Amino acid sequence: MISIPSKLPQVGTTIFSVMSQMANEQKAINLSQGFPDFDCDPELVALLSQFAHEGYNQYAPMIGLPQLRQQIALKYQKCYKADYNEATEITVSAGASQAIFSILAACIAPGDEVIVFEPSYDLYQPTIQLLGGVVKSIVLKPPHFKIDWNEVKDTISPKTKMIILNNPNNPATKLLKAEDLKTLESLLQDTPILVLSDEVYEHIVFDDVKFQSVCMYPGLKERSFIVASFGKLLHITGWKIGYCVAPEHLMTEFRKAHQFNVFCVHTPSQMAIAAYLAQHDVYNELSAFFQRKRDLFMAGMSSSKFDLIPSEGSYFINATYAQISEDSDFDFATKLVKDYGVATIPVSAFYSQDKDEIKLLRFCFAKQDSTLEQAIERLLQVH
Ligand code: PMP
Ligand code: GLN
Repeated sequence: MISIPSKLPQVGTTIFSVMSQMANEQKAINLSQGFPDFDCDPELVALLSQFAHEGYNQYAPMIGLPQLRQQIALKYQKCYKADYNEATEITVSAGASQAIFSILAACIAPGDEVIVFEPSYDLYQPTIQLLGGVVKSIVLKPPHFKIDWNEVKDTISPKTKMIILNNPNNPATKLLKAEDLKTLESLLQDTPILVLSDEVYEHIVFDDVKFQSVCMYPGLKERSFIVASFGKLLHITGWKIGYCVAPEHLMTEFRKAHQFNVFCVHTPSQMAIAAYLAQHDVYNELSAFFQRKRDLFMAGMSSSKFDLIPSEGSYFINATYAQISEDSDFDFATKLVKDYGVATIPVSAFYSQDKDEIKLLRFCFAKQDSTLEQAIERLLQVH
């Protein structure tokens, strides 16, 4: 048997696949992997079908269809008064995931240090390691997950190539405030450090707080790659279409990696999304839509033995279960699927160390009200 030395010996199958598979096997209600269990707007599906039938079935331009890049440029203008040139500063990707991979591939050389906050979305750290980069983790503790910017300052070294932000953070569900971004902006001034800002949940923020994108801060915009996802915006996670925006000199390097990573992405989907965005104002309604679901879930769970940690953004909410069990969160999540028929994500999966101390479960509330109500009924039985 020919074998290869693993480049990622410590990595197994992602927790999203593990928990969704467990949910399917046990026919449990799946509040684990983040995806809606309701459909997108039928008009979007009709547009997809229309463009496929009209014969738009060949390669799109490597950087994405112009009409879609134009919609993305308009969005940055409208939401953040930020200018991105659709020809040189915007590239459509196969979901935010592929954009993140290409950004890291374009930027990280062996030995480069990348500062990552934990809990961290699961694809950052293994990708940095695949590229020979060195992960410098800063651990954020529940329930506030607050960043100590002095710790960030102390972690920066001459080898620091990049800082990864995820705002709103998955799984912490916390937002960076204007103060955070201003502090980061001044910390990075006069350094060559890049920022990768994963803003896939930018339009899902609660309690009337205004989302702070790095593109609103000139000292951050000039050094940042921002990634976003139409999966979250339009309830189409399975279409896997997202994008990256960055200043031209950074985007030029991104595209060198992107063109050999995927070249281009699904043409009819890009046509459909561009046509849909031209007709609908989708950016202003998402927060209220999901806030209602968050509140429904929180109200239903208020008499449970779980302690919920308020969610500021994303379509997730975390809870501790100290009143119920001393099990590890993975064992407890497994028990919840098998004994109560509800699948969740153990948050320790997003930490690299001291996993046993993290006794938190993440619930996805991007579900039909009836799904949430059924799940609550089951979760109220857990003692
Ligand atoms: N970043 C974060 C924080 C995510 O939660 C996700 C997945 N939902 C992604 C990136 C990947 O997005 P996509 O499905 O568009 O690749
Ligand atoms: N981002 C989704 C989540 O956090 C999962 C995406 C995936 O399965 N890779 O649940």
